[in-house]
Amino acid sequence: MLEKVVIANRGEIALRVLRACKELGIKTVAVHSTADRDLMHVRLADESVCIGPPSPTQSYLNIPSLISAMEVTDADAVHPGYGFLSENADFAEQVEKSGFIFIGPTAETIRLMGDKVSAIDVMRKAGVPTVPGSNGPLDDDKERTLQLARDIGYPVIIKAAAGGGGRGMRVVHNEAALLKAIYVTQSEAKSFFGSGVVYLEKFLENPRHVEIQVIGDGKGNAVHLGDRDCSLQRRHQKVLEEAPAPGIPDAVRAEVLATCINACKLMKYRGAGTLEFLYQDERFYFIEMNTRVQVEHPVTEMVTGVDIVREQLRIASGLPLSITQDDIVIRGHAFECRINAEDPTTFLPCPGKVNLFHAPGGPGVRVDSHLYSGYIVPPYYDSLIGKLICYGESRKQALTRTHIALDELLVDGIRTNIPLHRDLVRDTEFQKGGVNIHYLEHKLKA
Ligand code: ADP
Repeated sequence: MLEKVVIANRGEIALRVLRACKELGIKTVAVHSTADRDLMHVRLADESVCIGPPSPTQSYLNIPSLISAMEVTDADAVHPGYGFLSENADFAEQVEKSGFIFIGPTAETIRLMGDKVSAIDVMRKAGVPTVPGSNGPLDDDKERTLQLARDIGYPVIIKAAAGGGGRGMRVVHNEAALLKAIYVTQSEAKSFFGSGVVYLEKFLENPRHVEIQVIGDGKGNAVHLGDRDCSLQRRHQKVLEEAPAPGIPDAVRAEVLATCINACKLMKYRGAGTLEFLYQDERFYFIEMNTRVQVEHPVTEMVTGVDIVREQLRIASGLPLSITQDDIVIRGHAFECRINAEDPTTFLPCPGKVNLFHAPGGPGVRVDSHLYSGYIVPPYYDSLIGKLICYGESRKQALTRTHIALDELLVDGIRTNIPLHRDLVRDTEFQKGGVNIHYLEHKLKA
């Protein structure tokens, strides 16, 4: 087992990783910016190292500082959490070159999946269903591109191979607009991501976002932990997630799960990962793979009983998976509300002092949050201040518990999106299950 882990992140996920380390008897090192001395996990860690000023580029994204922190504390591994450097292949590579363990896939896998064109290629070859499209970068052959779009049918979407965070995409509704859109997306991609490579796929008009959690041991063994529905989004940011995705026919689900496992085995995938799909008319379409633990991983933990972060730590220690596919039984249902420090109507960030924090409880209720009364939410980072996760034997019970827990949850002093969540759990369409990725934005407009 690993002996000492540097947690290269902050907030709730840093605390989540710290808890898993403690459970396994692994010593922890919290690294933090000067703005984050008062973070909960910094107080609970065995050691802490200040790695720089508040600006993420000078602290949580500062590779030399992080590697120095590993050296001075004599740690053996680093857990990157999500965001920051978690999907940065150069970081993974430098960590390993410096003699430490990166808790995640190999740099090579991160690079392969970080490029959407190569990711789609790998998946397609493994039998994973993808969106009909160019199956590779668009080249200079304009006639061929026009013909391809005609064959696929409009609308189509032009996407940057290196894109991320919902940027570098453009929907095209007719042939007259196609070539110009490709040109503009290429130039934007070049300046945003340093690569002008773009590809084309069918634009699905009313899909849901359904994703599949996988874990691989890096030696060719892999299991899936079922799926999650993350369709409730605003500006491509997930707001409320659930597991399992409601209303998916068993056969359709079983088929896609099998292809995901096949892909992970072929890649010899190491660690936790998520294959993201659009789901429409009972069909799955792969869009990208995230090579890290996700914000919404707890809903999967609740319905499978598997501790995903613990598995990550075990795999990084060179141990086999503690579970086989046969051990995994999806039982019950879980929801996760992402609690953000933001105005519930304007969505503007709302940092500041939390005068009082009260977490709900009771059967099936889990709160992953670094908040405490008196904590000051700094203005420099993501506005996520915690996650409320509620489990039930049925979807209905899970929803009722979410409802009750949201009414108990108290964050006083700053504005949060708790009122939005209270609205959502009372929404009759959402209660039915299976709303698409446009539902929340339409609801907010109305
Ligand atoms: P990013 O890495 O920027 O998140 P994704 O490829 O995951 O990019 O796409 C982000 C979002 O864009 C999707 O969740 C979906 O809402 C929309 N999108 C992407 N591809 C398509 C498509 N082919 N059809 C419809 N919507 C799409």
